[in-house]
Amino acid sequence: MCHGEGGFVPLAAPALAALPGRPGISLHDRAHPRRFRATIRGLTMSLLRPAEAELDTPADLAPVEAYMRLALQAAEQAGRSGEVPVGAVVVVRGQVVAVAHNQRECLSDPTAHAEIIALRAAAATLGSWRLVDADLYVTMEPCPMCAGALVNARIRRLFYGCDDPKAGAARTLYRLLDDARLNHQVEVVRGVLATESAALLKSFFLRLRRPEAELTDR
Ligand SMILES: [Zn+2]
Repeated sequence: MCHGEGGFVPLAAPALAALPGRPGISLHDRAHPRRFRATIRGLTMSLLRPAEAELDTPADLAPVEAYMRLALQAAEQAGRSGEVPVGAVVVVRGQVVAVAHNQRECLSDPTAHAEIIALRAAAATLGSWRLVDADLYVTMEPCPMCAGALVNARIRRLFYGCDDPKAGAARTLYRLLDDARLNHQVEVVRGVLATESAALLKSFFLRLRRPEAELTDR
């Protein structure tokens, strides 16, 4: 389904379903914060492989990879819908408040990047545009539009997967999130499950190009 209230789909419930082959994170657990946190913590202990992450800043790494796995699940959902596979998750004090994926094609909306949709959903859920205690997890480095939205939303920390050499505005092309001239700075942790995030994008674009290649071969 493409169209939700306000022109976006606020929460991709299936992305919160059980991780394949892992202990489940259920909507039921989300209603019980302590149990949910324990589930996330347990998941993380089994998933965490710090050697894969390139971290710019020290952070509490315990749940980081588990949240990024949720973002990856959302990204996979985007890919299955023919969207560039990017997913995002917003977490406030250990609670997942929004899960979203890129829906540019589906909504015919140039602003429907995963981060924007996740920020809108989180703000709607929390009843405030100020997301001061929120951390955003996204599978690919945000573009200038999304980095600007993170600053405007007063996001506390950004965790992202792979760099985007064509549009990255957190580290690669620009460093909008720690520009002292702006009125808010966002702590950035890059390289979380970057290999998985990049592999998803690579296989998506390979699939897109394949029919073209087959035509050229004839
Ligand atoms: Zn963006």
